[in-house]
Amino acid sequence: MRISVIGTGYLGATHAACMAELGFEVIGVDVDPAKIQRLARGEVPFHEPGLPELLVKHVDSGRLRFTTDYAEVGGWADVHFIGVGTPQKDGENAADMRFVDAAAMSLAEAITRDALIVGKSTVPVGTAARLREAIAARRTENGLPGRVELAWNPEFLREGYAVKDTISPDRLIVGVESAHAEQLLREVYAAPLEQDTPWIATDFQTAELVKVAANAFLATKISFINAFSEITETVGGDIRTLADALGHDSRIGRRFLNAGVGFGGGCLPKDIRALQARVSELGLNRTMQFLNNMDEINLRRRDRVVDLAAQLLAEDRDDDGRTHTTRTQILQGTRIAILGAAFKPHSDDVRDSPALDVANRLFCTGAATAVFDPQANANAAARFPRLDYVGSAEQALRDADLAILLTEWPEFRELDPARVAELMRTPRMIDGRNVLDRTAWDAAGVHTVGLGQHIEP
Ligand code: NAD
Repeated sequence: MRISVIGTGYLGATHAACMAELGFEVIGVDVDPAKIQRLARGEVPFHEPGLPELLVKHVDSGRLRFTTDYAEVGGWADVHFIGVGTPQKDGENAADMRFVDAAAMSLAEAITRDALIVGKSTVPVGTAARLREAIAARRTENGLPGRVELAWNPEFLREGYAVKDTISPDRLIVGVESAHAEQLLREVYAAPLEQDTPWIATDFQTAELVKVAANAFLATKISFINAFSEITETVGGDIRTLADALGHDSRIGRRFLNAGVGFGGGCLPKDIRALQARVSELGLNRTMQFLNNMDEINLRRRDRVVDLAAQLLAEDRDDDGRTHTTRTQILQGTRIAILGAAFKPHSDDVRDSPALDVANRLFCTGAATAVFDPQANANAAARFPRLDYVGSAEQALRDADLAILLTEWPEFRELDPARVAELMRTPRMIDGRNVLDRTAWDAAGVHTVGLGQHIEP
């Protein structure tokens, strides 16, 4: 079977390499010629563990190729996966569907034989049905040969584990309208199906909704524990113990109950906003109102870190016997080490990253910020060029008045607090991810405060 993958970003490049690994001949298609040239040379344009090895292996074997030309795949592939972006529209909650629509129409015009188009992008419910009609109309207009069907197969991969999640997914969901489409997809996923991966064949709407429902649920879990953080910050109590205790209830589970600076990235925030926009379009405004609260709770965590930074730094200024009333007055002239820039560890993705949002707010309020991320400095610098980026955690921490851990990379967890105490001007840490042993850090001389912790005003 021959497969094309349209869009070669995080999802598409991974999917293309994994399909080659599963034994198929694959061509990746993207409108970005620079990206295509790099991939064709065997270079992954982003950080994803395990992907560089797969890419090189299959580019070298000739099983995996890349092109910017739809015509090359139109008469060639049996199955075309669409994995282009669905970002949030500027100034609106809704998803920007231009890229998915353009990819679908380009395929509709390029395909000259029987083929199955399979959407993988995360889309508002109703998209597949709309595209089915649009594709058929365009092909009739152009009088093209071949029977073209559409299916929807949402993607659940996690950046940082993308290869494993693609080759051995937790479940496979396909929205199909014929036994033939389901059969083709069963052939594509024969390897994971042999490992008893749950297979759910359903209609378009359910397939589209499973993805956004999963993301909305995960976002809700994170915001739920962060709402309780607001309570423990006010009255006291230990948010980590609360999460552990809740997590022992097998109906609830411990995962996604880590209180901290909240979620970000290229998926959860925009997906819950797109869902709100879509239900509102459907006249169901009240149905998903709670998502608005979830989003607000999440964003308030970023404010909390900035407030906490100002509160801790104000202590120094008060020692000088001067009164500092505004955040700007407090933050002016301070140096803050920002540990982390990616929205989560094991990724260099900085889309809607809480770490960078916090760093940028502190910078705009007058602090000098020294940012270090093991993988994401370059992407971060492209988005926020005015922040100062350094090459190691030690460089960031040197002479800092405050450090803030914002992405829970293992190497930050493994920092030696005694060494950190030596490096910093004032050894003080905000643990924005609640991953440090605060007792050990305090004992080593670094005053450490976590999100969710009650601090005397
Ligand atoms: P991305 O921005 O990394 O990649 C999108 C790619 O599509 C880019 O390389 C872009 O140049 C290309 N593109 C845009 N228009 C095109 C066109 N008309 N033809 C061909 N290529 C085109 O995005 P991503 O993170 O890979 O996400 C893609 C989709 O997958 C989104 O809907 C996202 O919500 C979903 N998704 C992403 C992840 C993830 O972890 N990144 C996980 C699950 C689902």
